[in-house]
Amino acid sequence: MRSLPSYVQLKEVGPRDGLQNEKTWITTEDKVNWINMLSTSGIKEIEYSSFVNPKMIPALSDAREVGKRIIRNPDVTYSALVPNLKGLEYALEAGIDGASVFMSASETHNQKNINKSIQDTYPVLDKVIVEAKQAGKHVTGYISTVFDCPYEGKIAPERVLRVCEKLIDSGVDDLSLGDTIGTAVPTQIEQLLELLLQHYPKEKLILHFHDTRGMAIANIMTAMHYGIYRFDSTIGGLGGCPYAPGAAGNVATNDVLYLLEGLGINTGIDEKKLQEAGVFIQNKLDKTLPSRSLAYLKNA
Ligand SMILES: [Zn+2]
Repeated sequence: MRSLPSYVQLKEVGPRDGLQNEKTWITTEDKVNWINMLSTSGIKEIEYSSFVNPKMIPALSDAREVGKRIIRNPDVTYSALVPNLKGLEYALEAGIDGASVFMSASETHNQKNINKSIQDTYPVLDKVIVEAKQAGKHVTGYISTVFDCPYEGKIAPERVLRVCEKLIDSGVDDLSLGDTIGTAVPTQIEQLLELLLQHYPKEKLILHFHDTRGMAIANIMTAMHYGIYRFDSTIGGLGGCPYAPGAAGNVATNDVLYLLEGLGINTGIDEKKLQEAGVFIQNKLDKTLPSRSLAYLKNA
């Protein structure tokens, strides 16, 4: 086991992965104000929306508007989910620093999520990746269900590697590996990283945990021992997954920050500003978010 990293970079995916699964409509103005709060919290990367067909994800149907109205902090990378060339066109118009393409390591989850087989998904993503790179954008390849699939059960690391190879061949800059249903345990993280780190440097790998079974913090700890220092999270633990029944939200940014501060790992994030942004969206959603750290502060 290696030692822990001295710096960890968290990507706040709450405005996308979080809100896409919340039933309460957040107005464009509230989204913009909230993203602006996140932009000044020290977070270095924010996924601000998704340019999928608005009919598929009504909660994010104002992606173009949001992209045009947020105040850009030059120290922050603003990315968005982009499913196809049409989505990329809108995203470029609204302004992005990074484009995230997505697919699943599980055939069935890929079918349910994007209505295509894995084989048929590659050419679609390839076009987006090539065009986004030509436009000078950073491209991240999200791979869902890299550990467990709600339909197929355990996914073998070799299957994940095959998808990684295809996306890297198409030109993605890095890979975000998703525990979409939040059921993985640390040994699964070890098995996947043991394989992938033989092929890719740690700089290329991001881990994306949902916290359905409360394992995300243990899994992050495990990944950090492999040198992984980039993680996706949502403030307060917002979210879920519409195509993964029973899945809970992402690991809470606040909880990860509590862990990292306790371990003496630098993130550059101002905890107070992060909490304010968490309380802001919690009030707008009119519900208590799952983050333990956020709840603790609220009751303190
Ligand atoms: Zn997710």
